[in-house]
Amino acid sequence: MRRFFAEKIDIADGKAVLSPDEARHIRNVLRMKTGDEVLLFDGSGTEYRSVITDFSGDSVTLDILGRGVSSADPEVHVTLFQCLPKQGKMELIIQKCVELGVYAVVPTVSKRCVVKLDGKEQKLQRYNRVSMEASKQCGRADIPEVKGPAELSSIDAKAFDVVLLAYENETVTTLKKALMDAGKIRSAAVVIGPEGGFEPAEAEMLISKGAVPVSLGRRILRTETAGMAALAQIMYELEQ
Ligand code: SAM
Repeated sequence: MRRFFAEKIDIADGKAVLSPDEARHIRNVLRMKTGDEVLLFDGSGTEYRSVITDFSGDSVTLDILGRGVSSADPEVHVTLFQCLPKQGKMELIIQKCVELGVYAVVPTVSKRCVVKLDGKEQKLQRYNRVSMEASKQCGRADIPEVKGPAELSSIDAKAFDVVLLAYENETVTTLKKALMDAGKIRSAAVVIGPEGGFEPAEAEMLISKGAVPVSLGRRILRTETAGMAALAQIMYELEQ
């Protein structure tokens, strides 16, 4: 069944009204009709079986037939702190990590980032749209938030059950071992460096705050691969 995003505020009294964007897609692209059933998701974990009842104006109105939670939503909340990669990679990283179950993405600034997050508002708007589209595609009812940007030094290790520093110079501790050693994990942070990697002083600073340096394997991954690889390994280990 096709899935569409509906703002929580647009769902009330057993009815939902879709945004003009979603309405245009339903009417003009998919040519759906009144009586057709769709799944709505509100971005915070609830989905609604619904039936289209009206196309007046530029909106689409639906009756809610039932509600539930999506089994695709992750039980483990993994926040990805992605140091700013070169142009055009962040959208790919967000899209793939949403599919892999990331809970939030924080574009992060570190010494060897060669780009700045200029035009922050527009960039964050676009990144959050990528996240919403990826959630829609992969069947999630929540939408991972893309927020920030954050300074590497602002990562608060106490806010997570474990902070995993994917460190290219780490040769002993694997991600799997760090997860086993951490005990019960409900929330985790993964920190991925930019193309140039981390300065040793940056790694030391994060480790002194409680981050665990981990290897993602014997090969050096591109920055855009590393977050996906870390998410896949974490979800493989922790998700039932
Ligand atoms: N400039 C670094 C070098 O030549 O060793 C490589 C940095 S790598 C392209 C970008 C980021 O991906 C790293 O900072 C790290 O966060 C992560 N990464 C890549 N491969 C990794 C691995 N095998 N183990 C741990 N982290 C890795």
